[in-house]
Amino acid sequence: MSVLDRFIRYASIDTRSDEHSPTVPSTPGQLVLLRILAEELRAIGLEDVTLDTNGYLMATVPATAGHAVPVIGLLAHVDTSPEMPGTRVRPLVHERYDGRDLVLPDDPTAVLRASEIPELAAQLGHDIVTASGLTLLGADDKAGVAEIVSAADYLMRHPEIPHGAIRIAFTPDEEIGRGADHFDVARFGAVCAYTLDGGARGELEYESFSADAMTLTFGGFNTHPGYAKGRMINAIRVASRFIDRLPTAELSPETTDGYEGFVHPYQLEASVDRTRVKILIRDFVTASLAEKEALVERLAREVVDATPGATLDIRLDEPYRNMREVLDHHPLVVEHAREAMRRAGVVPIEKPIRGGTDGSRLSFMGLPTPNLFAGEHNFHSRLEWVSVQDMEKAVEVIVELAKVWEERA
Ligand SMILES: [Zn+2]
Repeated sequence: MSVLDRFIRYASIDTRSDEHSPTVPSTPGQLVLLRILAEELRAIGLEDVTLDTNGYLMATVPATAGHAVPVIGLLAHVDTSPEMPGTRVRPLVHERYDGRDLVLPDDPTAVLRASEIPELAAQLGHDIVTASGLTLLGADDKAGVAEIVSAADYLMRHPEIPHGAIRIAFTPDEEIGRGADHFDVARFGAVCAYTLDGGARGELEYESFSADAMTLTFGGFNTHPGYAKGRMINAIRVASRFIDRLPTAELSPETTDGYEGFVHPYQLEASVDRTRVKILIRDFVTASLAEKEALVERLAREVVDATPGATLDIRLDEPYRNMREVLDHHPLVVEHAREAMRRAGVVPIEKPIRGGTDGSRLSFMGLPTPNLFAGEHNFHSRLEWVSVQDMEKAVEVIVELAKVWEERA
């Protein structure tokens, strides 16, 4: 079965995760796909196929090498973004793309134009897969899932290729930030892993943001507004003065890119008595998070101090850290990925992720995990697309990666 056939099969199952759900995994659709994948991995001949109750599917491609080779891992997430409709996904293959407009038939206003999507313009001659216009496609990350299954299948059918044991894991709830929550690194038993969850052919990502989250609660005093003179302290006014002082010309998502970090107020829960502002703090240098947090705190204190009776409470959370701080101690993990791409005729594109991945957290849980391209484009959109040839190339890169680890062991 081809990587395209696999992808189309997986894409038709609704696996959107749900951040409001308390269950693990967050939605039953993910388990439906995970059970299908477990069957498929067994049928291919993989060993130790286990699906735990939290929705983590693990399996092993057994070693064929005659000597000791480090065990490496391959990861992809089965859930898709809850931000877009994901039921009855109808993948369409637009063969031999020639630069034409790709009109999605279920909503003719949904059109992929080469003039608007430079990465698409570069795909002449490729077969492009899209959804039909009403839903996301789910190439993020079912392309990665299909690529890993296809690579495992290839290695099982070619026992003459020497490689070490390869561990595979398909995980739930990445899109809602819980993908690493119940990942059992010890049971996985690999020295490192690669997520197949990146964009354009060649993408090799081993730097992510370091992320903190601040919750500032401004306290006021509420009374009947008709009799509030000299008594009411309006927390909404205090919080809005603070928000107004946050930097906008710099240090904001709207004005930064590349290696620049930011301070991003993204949620407000307002009442006279109590107003809560949630702020994301991002930087590639973990130490710089503290500077930004000091700035936020100083601005908040200033407005609170200027308002007698107002109070301030600050809570700090640490969602994830820059994976590079771990990967710098394991240079071969990235170096072998570069070499595998070169052997597959792919030029590595190395750029920082302005966000976090499951790999950011897994790296700090003891499993160094950079991210490789899977061919995904226009994530979380009705205009999501993937090239069949890029998926095939990713399969080739995985196979080369297995060989490189064996040769250099
Ligand atoms: Zn993804």
